[in-house]
Amino acid sequence: MSDTIKTINCPACKEEMTKIFMSEGAANIDVCLNGCGGIFFDNRELKKFDENSESIDELKQAIEGKNFKKTDEAQTRICPLCNTPMVKNSVSTKGNIIIDECYNCGSKFFDHGELTKMREEFPTEQDRRQALLADTYNEVGLKIDQLEIQNTINHTQRSKFLKFLDRLFF
Ligand SMILES: [Zn+2]
Ligand SMILES: [Zn+2]
Repeated sequence: MSDTIKTINCPACKEEMTKIFMSEGAANIDVCLNGCGGIFFDNRELKKFDENSESIDELKQAIEGKNFKKTDEAQTRICPLCNTPMVKNSVSTKGNIIIDECYNCGSKFFDHGELTKMREEFPTEQDRRQALLADTYNEVGLKIDQLEIQNTINHTQRSKFLKFLDRLFF
């Protein structure tokens, strides 16, 4: 877990990350203050800060007015806790917030600005889950509809063909 004394290096720019104590969740989170401004959460930490009502004041203060270096967001990042390649995942229905997730230990990395963007788009975790579910449902539901239409066509064609055979041979 990152909520330990162990310092970790930023998965995006490799700078050593700084631990910031957050009074809201009484947790230390790792922020890339001397590099890209990215934020790293272990598998339990994010839940404490993903809703707009949850205070991230200490984090905001720490990154305020700082210039962070740009990183290549398309690059695969390696989880600094367990060395597993992280997976890019959308946390927005608009598809404009892509974070890095470690499927092995559950850690998540937000590039500079992404956490605030996510909190603004969906004020609560519930809102975000519902929106993402609706999105998935639309995608899967559409595919099922298409399959059903396909099946109906096949069924009609088949019965026509059977009738044709029937007339031909009997
Ligand atoms: Zn960094
Ligand atoms: Zn990991």
